Order: sequence, then structure tokens, then C-alpha cells
Amino acid sequence: MTESNALPSKDKTLPWFQPPRHRYVLLNANVVDPVRGMILESASIHLYKGIVQSVNGNVKEWESDPNTITVNLEGKFVCPGLIDCHVHLVAVPGEGNGLESLKDMNTSASLLRQPLVCKSMLERGFTTVRDCGGALFPLKQAIEQGVHPGPRLFIAGHALSQTGGHGDMRGILNDYECCGGAAQGVGRVIDGVPDCLKYAREEIREGADFLKIMGGGGVASPTDKIENIQFSDEEIKAIVTVASNAGTYVTSHSYTPKAIQQAISLGVKGIEHGNLIDETTARMMAEKEVFLTPTLVTYAAMARFKGFLPPASAKKNEEVLKSGLRAIKIAEEAGVSICFGTDLLGDLHFAQSREFKLRRQVQSSENILRSATVNSALLLRQEKFLGQVAAGFAADLMVLNANPLEDITIFDMPEQHILATMKDGRVLSSRWSKLGISSERPEASNKIIDVFCSFEDDRKGRFAGFI
Ligand SMILES: [Zn+2]
Repeated sequence: MTESNALPSKDKTLPWFQPPRHRYVLLNANVVDPVRGMILESASIHLYKGIVQSVNGNVKEWESDPNTITVNLEGKFVCPGLIDCHVHLVAVPGEGNGLESLKDMNTSASLLRQPLVCKSMLERGFTTVRDCGGALFPLKQAIEQGVHPGPRLFIAGHALSQTGGHGDMRGILNDYECCGGAAQGVGRVIDGVPDCLKYAREEIREGADFLKIMGGGGVASPTDKIENIQFSDEEIKAIVTVASNAGTYVTSHSYTPKAIQQAISLGVKGIEHGNLIDETTARMMAEKEVFLTPTLVTYAAMARFKGFLPPASAKKNEEVLKSGLRAIKIAEEAGVSICFGTDLLGDLHFAQSREFKLRRQVQSSENILRSATVNSALLLRQEKFLGQVAAGFAADLMVLNANPLEDITIFDMPEQHILATMKDGRVLSSRWSKLGISSERPEASNKIIDVFCSFEDDRKGRFAGFI
């Protein structure tokens, strides 16, 4: 194809083409700094092209620019967008029958509901989420391209599990064989080193940002015990090798010291849940700079809503629920870097912000905010781009009417305290008339007409005889 009859570039033909972002100047903001645990008072913030251009820089020339949206925040708080490092977007709400209904969830039905789950997370102030099993690249791509609003996604693809492990949802009376590599919902069942290599590579090929393994028993799976460890050393080593060759890391679903120690001694860099951790294991994690992502709220919510779990899972839930708070205390005292996670399934997604109040029983507001911003950004390897409102960082932030460093539980009531959420320099959720939602695609229809016009002109030109 010669240059003269080249097709218009892809970004110009997307029907959901995103117009350029507005320039924003926010005046009189109290900027929340989670790194130092302090407030930068009466600051001006300049946002452009999705990036924080300056905090307390010179904004005079932009304030008077008619194309700039200037808002006097009158002392409202501006906090970095929250990061949830353990979600499962595939486990959508709507069935009302608890865990059982999720096992047979139709893939298309789930995918059609996922945008609504994503949108509700923005309303709660979460501008980034790490999906630990189930969310796939088409969803991530749709959010990035602006098909629908949602948080930034970092995905594991399918979580990798052994037969009879935490990703194998067959009940004990189910004698159908699960084929090697079969994927369903959250997980994929694989056994042996060759399959671990093959399917870990497959997840990376299909867009996984990191790999997740089921390294021990779990609550939701019907046939494993919490104290079981899963996968052999050789299998874990194979998956870790695939991840590190691809420039990324492995995180492991592990509750017990035995499961955690096995994983981290083989090069796993993240531990999910960790409810039964002991002091020795916590010290090992701190030494090896392994991240811990507790998910207290999922156990609390599953216990609260009777009938969500079948009896065998409810018993396991009791085991880990009680120890969750103690685990955070032990990890914090040992100096482990603690991230923020929730792990809610099905109808329980609404409880995402309740994690803050649960943690407040054992951690300071300041440290909980760090876990949901800077610590999580470090785990995502985005510490120079996410988790702070500072020059050069992504324009991902919330406008709040209260200070989360004083009381982190304000996030439990997003309707009352989160006035607006911006992601990538656009207002995607707002409860405040002074900072309205950025028009998602005001020029899109014109853009499409432009493209069609150029095709029309081409009828007699480049494409003559073809159209
Ligand atoms: Zn999970």
C-alpha cells in the first residue's frame, strides 16, 4: 500500500475516540501527602495531558486562559487516587445466590457486568486496581481506550492452580476430569512443570501484567484445606522463571507460614491474604522485601451475609477471619510493606471501602493511606507514576471534604466525603457541581464525520473503483 492510499490512523477511526483532556488549575487545595503523612496547605495544582504538571508552581498564565478549567477548592482536600491490589472483576454481582452461582457464571454475562463494577470503584475513589484472577486484556484495553470508564487495571489473567487447588472449583462428588490448562472464571488448572511453563507463558502472551499462583488452600474452593500447600517447588520455580524472564513477578495466595515460606524462598514477591502469618515468617518477608496484601473485608462480608458460603467454606472462613487483624499487626511490626486489598466476590463488591475501618483497629490512618497509595504503587512497580499528587505523576486523584490522615474511615462513606474522582486528568465521577464529569467524547461524532468525509473525498481519489 502506498502512502497515498493509507487508511486513517487507528486512533482517529475509533468510534469512542477520546478528545484531548482539559487543562485544570485547582486553587486553594489541601494536598494530602501520604509519603510524609502531612498536608500541603493552600496549594495550587496544575493538571494537563493526564499528568500533574506542578504542585505550587506558577499557574498565573493558565488561570486566565479561557480553555483552562479553574476551580477554587476553598480548602478541600486533594488525595491521590486509591489503589486496591486484590480484586476479582470477573466475580460480578447480580445473582444473589452467593458463591455457588459464581462458579457457573456465563462468561459473556460476567463481561457485560464488569463495566458497572469498574464504574462503582471509581465512585469509591479507586483509580487503580490489580486484578488477582479473572479480568482479561479486552477489559483492560476497553478502559484504556475509553470505551467505558474504569480504574487503571493491572491484571494476572487467570490465577494458576493445581488440580484440587484453590482454583479448582469442582466439588468432591464431581468426577469429571478437568483438562490440563482449562480456564474458568478466576483460575486455570495446571499440573507439572511443562504445563506451568506453557500456561504461565500463555497468560503473559494474553496480556497478564504479573502472575498469580494459588500457593495454598483457600476459603472458596471446595476440596482443599487451608493448611495445604499447593504446587511443588519445581512447579513454582518454573512459573517464577517465566515471570522474571518477562520482566515481572509472581504473587501467591497463601495463608500459612509454611505456604508463605515455600513461596518466598522460591522467588515469589507478593503474598495475598497471609492471615496466619507468624513473626518468623513476617521477618523473612521483610528481609526479602516481599509485599503483603491482606484482604480482611472479604472474610467479614462473607461471614456477615449468611448463606453466601456453602457450609464447608463457611467453616474455613471462620478460621481465617479471626486471625486477619493479628496478621497485619505482626507484619507491620516486622516492617513488611503492606498493601491494600479487598478480594470481594459477587454481590459483596459494594463493601470495598469497609476495609479501611477494619484495618483502623490495628493500624494508624496514615499507614492505611500509605498501604492504599504509595505501598501499592511500589508493588505495581509504578512508584514514580502512581500513588502521589506530585509533579510528573498521573493526574489520578480525589477531592475530599475531610482529611483522611486524621480519619481514614471517611472512605467508608464515599457518598458523604468523596466529592469527585479524576483519573488520567479526566473527572470520571463527581458529586460536586464545581467539578463536573469531563464530557467523555464531545467531539467524537464530529470526528467520525471527518473520517467519513475523507472517505467520501476518496471515492473519486485513492479508493476510486473500490467503494
Ligand atoms: Zn482473591
